[in-house]
Amino acid sequence: MLGKGQKLYSIFTSKCPKCHEGKLFLDANPYHLKNMDKMHGNCPVCGEPSEPEPNFYYGAMYVSYAYTVALFVGTYLVAALVLGLGMWPTIGLLAGLLVVLGPYIFRLSRITYLNFFVHYDPEAVSKASNKR
Ligand SMILES: [Zn+2]
Repeated sequence: MLGKGQKLYSIFTSKCPKCHEGKLFLDANPYHLKNMDKMHGNCPVCGEPSEPEPNFYYGAMYVSYAYTVALFVGTYLVAALVLGLGMWPTIGLLAGLLVVLGPYIFRLSRITYLNFFVHYDPEAVSKASNKR
């Protein structure tokens, strides 16, 4: 089971990688495309900056690339080997999946990338409240 303290918990719940409590994105739904990339400047719970340095998220493109390749390989294997689809139906399926999952992969990539650099601190919340 996923729980606080695990990176996957932060990644799949869109929670701050430092305290695993604060929400990273202003709008919880990635399919509200206007707000898809809007993040809290700092974690609302522990104050950890969501963008450690300017243009930080350029690196998230590589994570997005990795997720997309994994998605494509997995989908291809199921489409070709399990469902027996031909080339064009498989390409259509991949294109459709990319459009449908695009906003979700975008966010997943950002959170994953942030998790490479920011680590869980079980005392982050109490440290932040001491500062106030
Ligand atoms: Zn936090």
